[in-house]
Amino acid sequence: MKLGMTRRRFVSRAPLLAGALSLPRLAAAVQAASSPYRRPRLKITDVRTALIRAHGLQLHVRVYTDQGLIGQGEATDAAAGGVSLLAGMRPRLLGQDPLNVDYLFESLRTAGIFAGAQAGQYVAALSALEIALWDLAGKALGLPIWQLLGGRMRDRIRLYCDAQASSPDDPQASQRIQRVLELGFTAVKIDIDDAADPMRWDRVNWTASNAEVDNMVRKVRFMREALPARVDLAVDMHGRYDLVSARRVARALEEFRLLWLEEPVPPENVEAMRQVRASTSTPICCGENLYLRHGFRRVLEEGAADIIMPDFQKCGGLLEGRKIADMAHTYYVPVAPHCVVSPIGTMASCHVCAAIPNFLILEWHWLPRLELWRNFVREGEIIEKGFIAVPERPGLGVEMNEEAARKAQVPGTSWFGS
Ligand code: MG
Repeated sequence: MKLGMTRRRFVSRAPLLAGALSLPRLAAAVQAASSPYRRPRLKITDVRTALIRAHGLQLHVRVYTDQGLIGQGEATDAAAGGVSLLAGMRPRLLGQDPLNVDYLFESLRTAGIFAGAQAGQYVAALSALEIALWDLAGKALGLPIWQLLGGRMRDRIRLYCDAQASSPDDPQASQRIQRVLELGFTAVKIDIDDAADPMRWDRVNWTASNAEVDNMVRKVRFMREALPARVDLAVDMHGRYDLVSARRVARALEEFRLLWLEEPVPPENVEAMRQVRASTSTPICCGENLYLRHGFRRVLEEGAADIIMPDFQKCGGLLEGRKIADMAHTYYVPVAPHCVVSPIGTMASCHVCAAIPNFLILEWHWLPRLELWRNFVREGEIIEKGFIAVPERPGLGVEMNEEAARKAQVPGTSWFGS
């Protein structure tokens, strides 16, 4: 068919087509259905908390509204003071529109600059609250949080399992490694710092002796040989050692082609972390003890890490997590979030992991608490063969199973006000 004839036929039929499809009316209907003026006008009526002890302490937050919608969030590690910190924030939240998530976050953060809002427990409490506000926003608008964070880059989130095993002397080690592989994980992390190492000569100073370094290498070799080559291995030193020890360990582990070596020195001195990174081909990962974009700025500017690992349940929540990841992306640095929380916080992290371009892998740390993990939310087990499918449901996409979760409640503490 000649092009000219096709065009003439289309032009002659165009008015008919427009009439048949009623495009203006369709567009008006779509706009009316999705207009922000039709969204629920919510007001915050209460903020309540509960404390759970699973992998460490977890602070759970619920934000209540005048239209019955409830948002939930979770914080961890720096969570001990969260109950009283959130009680202090509550008066500033009552009557506010919970959908102004970033406004509420920023006003509470800047209001607290003399109260420690730069890092630590204040930011962790704020993280739990911010996640609960996103859950509310998603539920109010009928969208999963990843959609509100810019849409999704991927349909499933890859997890690594903290193996809870690394020593060839541990009679349970083989059984645990087998369990991790049966669960389908494609990456594993082990700890090699050891306060009880018999070759450690000082209870305070963490300069590793030759024998300690040898023991660390032995653990990594044991795990590397126990795992199939396709399974990646990461190694954590928990920020305990000094610079000379960190450099020696990082060099000694080069042959194992680790996914990363985590926190070889403490987090405060960015220059020391940079020196470790510059001394080795082992990839260096840090960030689980850094807060807000400000905590990650120098790490990225000075090239102190190959990979960063913000913990969205303590570093500032989901949008702050996205902002940290975007900042890292400009340095071509991937993000492997630290994550030790329940399925609620883990799913919250998945929404950020789905939305950012430079996601690498997400932590899972509940191997010794498998029964609690599988019953903690009404949706049941959310991990399938080492991956979590990105949810389509509004908000976080999971709801707490109270009966199961209360089994881990910290005795003597309030359970969402009761
Ligand atoms: Mg760690």
